[in-house]
Amino acid sequence: MTKGNINVSVENIFPLIKKFLYSDHEIFLRELISNATDATLKLKHLTSIGEAKVEYGNPQIEVKIDKKGKKLHIIDQGIGMTAEEVEKYINQVAFSGAEEFLDKYKDAAKDSGIIGHFGLGFYSAFMVANKVEIITKSYKDEPAAHWTCDGSPEFTLEPAEKTERGTEIILHITEDDKEFLEESRIRELLVKYNKFMPVPIKFGTKEINDPDFTPKTTTDKDGKETTEPHKKITVDNIINNPNPAWTKQPTDLKDEDYNNFYRELYPMQFEEPLFHIHLNVDYPFNLTGILYFPKMTNDLNIQRDKIQLYQNQVFVTDNVEGIVPEFLTMLRGVIDSPDIPLNVSRSYLQADGAVKKISSYITRKVADKLKSLFNNNREDFEKKWDDIKIVIEYGMLSEEKFFEKADAFALYPTVDGKYYTYDELYNAIKAKQTDKDDKLVILYASDTDAQHSYIETAKAKGYEVLLLDSPIVSHLMQKLEGSKENISFARVDADHIDNLIKKDDTKISKLSEDEKKQLDELLKEVIPSEKFMVQLETMDSDAAPFMITQPEFMRRMKE
Ligand code: ADP
Ligand code: MG
Repeated sequence: MTKGNINVSVENIFPLIKKFLYSDHEIFLRELISNATDATLKLKHLTSIGEAKVEYGNPQIEVKIDKKGKKLHIIDQGIGMTAEEVEKYINQVAFSGAEEFLDKYKDAAKDSGIIGHFGLGFYSAFMVANKVEIITKSYKDEPAAHWTCDGSPEFTLEPAEKTERGTEIILHITEDDKEFLEESRIRELLVKYNKFMPVPIKFGTKEINDPDFTPKTTTDKDGKETTEPHKKITVDNIINNPNPAWTKQPTDLKDEDYNNFYRELYPMQFEEPLFHIHLNVDYPFNLTGILYFPKMTNDLNIQRDKIQLYQNQVFVTDNVEGIVPEFLTMLRGVIDSPDIPLNVSRSYLQADGAVKKISSYITRKVADKLKSLFNNNREDFEKKWDDIKIVIEYGMLSEEKFFEKADAFALYPTVDGKYYTYDELYNAIKAKQTDKDDKLVILYASDTDAQHSYIETAKAKGYEVLLLDSPIVSHLMQKLEGSKENISFARVDADHIDNLIKKDDTKISKLSEDEKKQLDELLKEVIPSEKFMVQLETMDSDAAPFMITQPEFMRRMKE
């Protein structure tokens, strides 16, 4: 047996680790399962190139709770370690890594928000355990090793009996952390972090119907049918899907597969997504993923169901701020990239070149997909418009690049249910909807009921009236006014409509000149002129002898 001192200058590193990582205790399991996965995938690689002359087989990772012994076991069938490798990888390399981490990030670590993104690897085990054992047998023909450490810099290393290849990590869970001996808690963590990891993870067993058994149905003398109960068998309970849709080729997937994966990601969401975007790039950065446009229904839970960020199929976070442009955070799905630096603060992320590229790649892909949906099936695109417009309009406002692309497919619906692109609208109205300064005036309504009579008046004159009712539309109008030449938006009931009425239109006044004068004076007294405009007999219909309107600028101030 070897006894030794772990190579650290800090007298006792574990209380420090524990303190700094306190807010995110639970990540220890993700880290240990990541190591087990790495060890398995390393073996896969070594056997495939013929360097490890062993059978790869169908290795899995097992998580086991020993409630009585207050222990949690994580067992893999990966490459394992020789005693020498334990010395090297566990005692030296990694410990100094942890020390370096603490030196480097002690200040940053105080902001516990970012700590969750630090993979402290093996040492995170000491956040929940007062003693950790490693029993490991390398794929190389060497004796197994047993390493024990109780959280002080001292460790022991001795030969072990283990005969099967792989590593078993045993955590002696502390009293404070006994939640991690609860089956429901561990299952919750496995589902949260490991649901799509590439090696099957076994957690207990479950009963299923025996697929080789067909229940017999018998008919008694009265003609009543009875079917015998299905035969049950016990199988391993594998908690993950090692081959999630985003790791596959788009050509191998049907719409149905994408929809099924959506349900796998968001089991509480029953609406089907509107469409998906498969992301796949390997230069100049690596990124895969699938994004979905959700249907905007009342049961859409923006808090619960978010885009999930993975690194090599390990869940990292569902806070994708900075990585996905803000207007796309309303989408769903997964992004998997080993190139996103996770161990840094948000402000750094926003300035990071790779992250910026990722964000603009995603923006471009989304715009391209929308464009192709629009080009390939405009009718369907129009049907979806109400659900997707908020994302698109928000994107047009916040990302110039997106604005430029969206110009081709952003739609402007009319009160009659027609959908125009900007260019189509322009062509439809350029000849008839200009004001005296030759400016194109785009009329719009926001409420077809309240503005009914104005809409009818405008339509009677042959004008197009858009129906723009989304919450950010006033900003979008401003944006368009700023970027298109010589246009302005005017609400259909605003004073502008008057400017459009052709001069030779004959208006039949129902009031005599005298009556008009009297009425005018009266109205001036009761209606504050800085807020409203009074127009006598502007309307063609016989609805009213005069109209009170609010100037456009006043109206927008309220929005
Ligand atoms: P990292 O995973 O970032 O390298 P860790 O602290 O998680 O850092 O692990 C340190 C090293 O210990 C690993 O690189 C690996 O060589 C070794 N190791 C950890 N767990 C296992 C395991 N289950 N099987 C084989 N080797 C392991
Ligand atoms: Mg690790």
